[in-house]
Amino acid sequence: MATGAHPKEAEILQCLAAGLSNRAITERLNVGAATVAELRAKHRFPAARPALTVQQKFVLYTRETDGGHMVWIGERAQDCTPILSHRGRKLSVRPVAFEIEHGRRPTGYVKPACRHPWCVAPACQSDAADRALSREIPGQLDAAAALLGEN
Ligand SMILES: [Zn+2]
Repeated sequence: MATGAHPKEAEILQCLAAGLSNRAITERLNVGAATVAELRAKHRFPAARPALTVQQKFVLYTRETDGGHMVWIGERAQDCTPILSHRGRKLSVRPVAFEIEHGRRPTGYVKPACRHPWCVAPACQSDAADRALSREIPGQLDAAAALLGEN
């Protein structure tokens, strides 16, 4: 056992290397702020920058591809779902993208409406309400066409 080392030193250093703020590390690992500050200074990690917003993190970890689609280059869950760490929580990226585009929280499951299953572009995301709507419209058009005696 290392002498004098904090029991969570390795985890703290990992978080410092990942660029987390002292506060985020304190909350995530349930350790004292002084311990984190001390290790930051001892290992010469730069002072924590102000925390990024969810939107800033989204921009940071996406790359635009041809046609305005976006690839996620950040963290992923075990099932490969794109995720984003924010204030010690793991957020699913697609609902975040959806909210950026629509200004509201999605209803139900969010998935890309374009033909790329990997796409996280805000404009490409659809929620359950969007999909229900796009199922209804063709049906209504068929019904209208039937009333007009077409096909
Ligand atoms: Zn797309």
